[in-house]
Amino acid sequence: MIHELPKLPYDYNALEPYIDERTMNIHHNLHHGGYVTKLNNALKDSPELLDKSIEDLLKSLEEIPEYLRTAIRNNGGGHYNHSLFWTVMAPNTGEKPDGDLAKTIRSTWASFDKFKEIFSTVALSRFGSGWAWLVKNSDGSLVVTSTANQDNPISNGQIPILALDVWEHAYYLKYQNRRPDYIKNWWNVINWKEAAKRFTG
Ligand code: MN
Repeated sequence: MIHELPKLPYDYNALEPYIDERTMNIHHNLHHGGYVTKLNNALKDSPELLDKSIEDLLKSLEEIPEYLRTAIRNNGGGHYNHSLFWTVMAPNTGEKPDGDLAKTIRSTWASFDKFKEIFSTVALSRFGSGWAWLVKNSDGSLVVTSTANQDNPISNGQIPILALDVWEHAYYLKYQNRRPDYIKNWWNVINWKEAAKRFTG
């Protein structure tokens, strides 16, 4: 399959004032679009790899020929991570999780606020470029983690529930060096319905 840049599920200005229209436009079209183009370029002479979904490519990176592996890890990871990132956000929801996801968050971290604090600290502490994640392990337990560059938890067999891009390109136009403010505001635009769907599978 030729990988394609998915449409955003909302308008570029829909996450204002927390994430600005210009950042969303450049982030989606140029950054995410660039990963898709480079992924397709990397795969163009490997029809056997073109048959695989992006998830399958990332779940079995060690099966990819070494000369292609880094390009697929970075650009395939960039494509997968951003596709997920857009869907776990939504216009100003003002929501908190409910149902099983909320229950499991509370039983894991004692309270939603404590979870929020830990996730925010992990996102803030990622040195350089990368992502913060809420992931589900195969035993159903939840964990907060972070990855460098465009690496992601599906390569470790975990299921991502939430993803937060902390590359500077995700926030620099509006927030400059103020990553803490970007992280704080991101909690206003989480799509908890999508997160709950990912959690219950
Ligand atoms: Mn990004």
